[in-house]
Amino acid sequence: METFEAHYSSMQDTIHKHMPSADMALIDKAVEYANVKHQFQKRKDGSPYIIHPLAVAEIVAEMGLDLDAILGALLHDCIEDTDASHEEIEKLFGGTVAQLVEGVTKLTRANFSTSEQAQMENLRKMFMAMSKDIRVVLIKIADRLHNMRTMQYQTPAKQISKCQETMDIYAPLAHRLGMQKIKWELEDLSMQYLAPGEYNEIMTYLLAHKEQDETFMRTIQEKITQRLTNMGIRNTTYGRIKHVYSIYRKMQSQGKRIDELYDIYAFRVIVDSIPDCYNVLGHVHDLFNLVPGRFKDYISTPKPNMYQSLHTTVIGSQGIPFEVQIRTWEMHETAEYGIAAHWKYKQGSGNGSEKDFEWVRRLLETQQDSDSEEFVQSMKIDMFDDEVFVYTPKGRIVSLPADSTPIDFAYAIHSGVGNAMIGAKVNNRITNIDAKLRNGDIVEILTSKTAKGPSRDWLSICKSNQARTKIKQWFKKEKREENIIHGRAAFEAEMKRVGLPMSALSDPELEAQVLKKLSSFDTWDDMYAAIGYGGLTASKAVGRVRDDIARALKAQATDKLNQNPLRMKPDSEAALRNRHAVNGVIVEDIDSCMIKFAKCCTPVPGDAIVGYITKGFGVSVHRADCPNAKNREDPKQAARWVRVRWAAQEAQPFDTTLELDCITRDGLLLDVATVMTTARVRVKELYGKDLPGGRSTFTVRFEVRDVAELESIRKKLLNIRDVVGSRRGQN
Ligand code: MN
Repeated sequence: METFEAHYSSMQDTIHKHMPSADMALIDKAVEYANVKHQFQKRKDGSPYIIHPLAVAEIVAEMGLDLDAILGALLHDCIEDTDASHEEIEKLFGGTVAQLVEGVTKLTRANFSTSEQAQMENLRKMFMAMSKDIRVVLIKIADRLHNMRTMQYQTPAKQISKCQETMDIYAPLAHRLGMQKIKWELEDLSMQYLAPGEYNEIMTYLLAHKEQDETFMRTIQEKITQRLTNMGIRNTTYGRIKHVYSIYRKMQSQGKRIDELYDIYAFRVIVDSIPDCYNVLGHVHDLFNLVPGRFKDYISTPKPNMYQSLHTTVIGSQGIPFEVQIRTWEMHETAEYGIAAHWKYKQGSGNGSEKDFEWVRRLLETQQDSDSEEFVQSMKIDMFDDEVFVYTPKGRIVSLPADSTPIDFAYAIHSGVGNAMIGAKVNNRITNIDAKLRNGDIVEILTSKTAKGPSRDWLSICKSNQARTKIKQWFKKEKREENIIHGRAAFEAEMKRVGLPMSALSDPELEAQVLKKLSSFDTWDDMYAAIGYGGLTASKAVGRVRDDIARALKAQATDKLNQNPLRMKPDSEAALRNRHAVNGVIVEDIDSCMIKFAKCCTPVPGDAIVGYITKGFGVSVHRADCPNAKNREDPKQAARWVRVRWAAQEAQPFDTTLELDCITRDGLLLDVATVMTTARVRVKELYGKDLPGGRSTFTVRFEVRDVAELESIRKKLLNIRDVVGSRRGQN
């Protein structure tokens, strides 16, 4: 049985070695606190629980992490296993330590298991995303390392599941974070339980050849050291056997037995400077025979986890190939401790150099251009902020855009699930389908065969394009009628925005022409349906057919005029285009003259119109049905009347006046004003006049673009209670 004293003094030694100035009183306070909290707990082997936090703190100290991390390691199981609270830890040891403990607790509670190979990367990302502070990840790795070292006390089932998890998450993370030493140990410990036969086979072989191997390695080491020392290059050189799991991998990938395997030996030469590295390389190539194609310069091109060294493989006099790794002490530190080594540099050099920040940034694969300096200072893990990772009830991981909802989740599973969704459970609790999902949530979608399908609102709630596309597809298929209504409304609004009347669409010729242009639709309804489900935007549709509609409108206006007593000579296209329009009106035979609109009848585009040549004020345009235009049949006046017509519609508004017949009541004026405001019409004048017998009239002068708009507003006004009639203004 292991004792508290042994572990405590071992931890103390390690802390003294890596952090001579550490506040030991504070560390003792944390040890005491954890010891009291865990006093009724025992390890599986029967030893006091406190041994585990002590061992984890020692690993963390060995990594070179800071005091907060060591305190966090000592307290890491307190919230999970005892009555200790975040508040209490914060009060005694500060906010940072409390947050580290909280972070480790969250990871301990989360379930990082999946049987799907393709999901592993997501699992690791989720692990990182949940941690927020890189020190949480490092404490958790230290925690796992100690648990792996004492795995023999667990049940066989637990051994397998923990070792699998270690291989799936912890070892790759240690690798990603550049911590080779820890990665190797985790791999070898896991392999003992996951592939005990192969592990023992390799170990037996290595043990049997131990003496032979050691002699060989000593010979090579001495040869290198001697040469370098003679050349005045300070060096530390040693040989080692590669770790068991990597030998196992080599056997697997090369299909060989261990006795057929070469390069299980690796030598390290650690020197003071980069120029020395290249000098050593030259001497090594001089001493031994080079194996071609095996030289790698990771100094000029570091690995993604910022590993740096020169690698070369050579063959010694016995004909045995071996690898030589040449590096500086700083590179060595990085290779052994990875990201944790950063704290060592930081303690030595204030804020750390640009290179260090770059190093951490690349280490964590932050592809976004986030401010790496800020990143390091806050020590936050934010590279997966644009993603959230959640589980299905069966444990499959689903990766979604940040802020995704159960709707996104449902459609990520299957469109059938999304379309049949009637509710959702998150972590076994009923929740809103627009709730934001968080990392590690277990999401269950409640479905029903009688579900009505998605709601249009979902399109604006969901975050993933996948969900949006699938919802649109559903609407396209299931809701044609509704799509037509929505699509038509959108199209109408867009037509209005660009100043075209919907009435123009009644022309069957135009329909054929326009739909031909949009090619994939047979009828207007088909087009509206497409707009309704989102396959086509209203602005795109209107944009493409705008010119055709304007031209048709022009033709319609001409037709109307042609039905007037004053017949206009049909114009050729070219002539129409050349003719100069003033205020949207073309006066026949007169290229450019002053145009004004008659106050009596306030014509708007779409109205049949005639023009009257005034004395000195140009042409006054009247509606063809205006009483004041009646006298154009008078022979004496006829010469003053000219044929006019609307030019192709432009988005220019016209004044017009409506008179409303009403039954007098309070608030009517307000109702009229409200209708005008809601219709987004610019009102120029609005007044009411009481008439005898409880009657009144309201006169409203406002801007419209055309008759269609005018009629739509008139309809809305007539819908007001107590408005009983209306007529166009006749001043
Ligand atoms: Mn633990």
